[in-house]
Amino acid sequence: MHLFDAHAHYDDERFKSEYEGGADAALRDARRAGVEYIVNSGADIKTSEASIALADSSVGRNDVPLVYASVGIHPTETYKYENMNDALDAVRALAARGRVVAIGEIGLDYHYPDTNKDVQREYFAAQLELARELGMPVVIHDRDAHGDVYDIIKNFRDVDIMMHCYSGSAEMARQYAAWGMRFSFGGVLTYKNAQKTRESALTVPRESVLLETDAPYLAPTPHRGKINCSAYMTYTAAALASLWGVDADEAAETALCNAKAFYRI
Ligand SMILES: [Zn+2]
Repeated sequence: MHLFDAHAHYDDERFKSEYEGGADAALRDARRAGVEYIVNSGADIKTSEASIALADSSVGRNDVPLVYASVGIHPTETYKYENMNDALDAVRALAARGRVVAIGEIGLDYHYPDTNKDVQREYFAAQLELARELGMPVVIHDRDAHGDVYDIIKNFRDVDIMMHCYSGSAEMARQYAAWGMRFSFGGVLTYKNAQKTRESALTVPRESVLLETDAPYLAPTPHRGKINCSAYMTYTAAALASLWGVDADEAAETALCNAKAFYRI
């Protein structure tokens, strides 16, 4: 099986404490399971730098790198920076580095009640603007903020956008798909109670569907609740395959091709 993990966080501390051998071992296991590409996502300046370091040191098959990086400031991390323009300058500089393939993850997260929504929206729009200026694709995080995400990205339909771990309605997915947007689905696709997510995955065109882990989070069934890793994508690929009525190898291959097109690898 050939797999592309469109979104993961191997710089996360959990790999040190919960995965035997740490992130290096997890990446080795991923390669063994057929994972050929991983995009490691930054969530602030520090983790964006860590993503680039991981990408630079990774070795894949036939000298093709295993890990690529996306860089950006996640909505819940915006509080860390005193001046947004300085933070954006740092993102711009990181985006110019080799093996950086996208701006992300950026977006809105209204899950926690004490969040500053105005600041989140400002960072989100400014980073979309930056992606437009740089001509780079964007990975979006949308948690409990579907309406406001929609209101902002409708002004950026010229930018290549992927909704990571898509959790909106199937109806909204159809609208986004009509705008040419992509969707990546992870372990949630295998959860019993995730009918809505499966409906979305089924409703959008197959060429817009990517697979991801969001590792170390959201491990698929039967590993739900434990640390996630790219090797478990075989379960997610199987879930997508049964929705599509194809075999798992074909579903994985389609998602891999879609991810390569989106990230321009
Ligand atoms: Zn993530």
